Amino acid sequence: MELSNRQEKIIEIVKENGPITGENIAQKLSLTRATLRPDLAILTMAGFLDARPRVGYFFTGKTGSELLTERIKKFKVFEYQSVPVVVKEQASVYDAISMMFLEDVGTLFVVDDHSYLTGVLSRKDLLRASIGKQDLDALPVHIIMTRMPNITVCRKDDLVVDAAKKMIDKQIDGLPVVKDAPSGLEVVGRITKTTITKVFVELVTENRV
Ligand code: ADP
Repeated sequence: MELSNRQEKIIEIVKENGPITGENIAQKLSLTRATLRPDLAILTMAGFLDARPRVGYFFTGKTGSELLTERIKKFKVFEYQSVPVVVKEQASVYDAISMMFLEDVGTLFVVDDHSYLTGVLSRKDLLRASIGKQDLDALPVHIIMTRMPNITVCRKDDLVVDAAKKMIDKQIDGLPVVKDAPSGLEVVGRITKTTITKVFVELVTENRV
């Protein structure tokens, strides 16, 4: 988060003199208390300053990057997940390839007749199947997919940063967001490397600290 000159000055004053009242900060800057109110509100909300009634403002001791880290660590999967694209186990590799183009995704999730997760198909899984001499129309995806229980998943209340770590550790591009159902996992969303890129850009452009 980018601070204005005046906000930087306020932090310095509070660092040196805190706890200090808003009135006294205003005096030191030769401004009115009312003029400072928005700045004090921003600095308090962002976590740089803390305010105690009848005592005044004091410096929390947290740096901008510490506050940014704290903020990022609160991002939950459900806030950022996108719609999952699924195919049935019996779908052909040809259909899966068409689906991948049509839906413009890099990972498809495979489900059984009860809509429970049974596998994952990546671009390279489909490429690998395509360079053989097989009839892609007759080859069902369950033959070539990565299957349960070897699927790495996440849940809606997981932290985005933990989902990102799983993708790095397993060297994969996406995770299904799943919901526990009586006899399997229902696919309710997806988190991909693109999601993480979006979060990163949003942090910079929207100053979401
Ligand atoms: P690509 O193969 O196109 O580079 P990935 O890196 O995502 O894409 O996939 C690598 C391998 O890992 C593929 O065989 C794929 O089936 C498998 N895979 C992808 N996502 C998952 C996941 N969430 N859990 C388990 N395996 C996965």
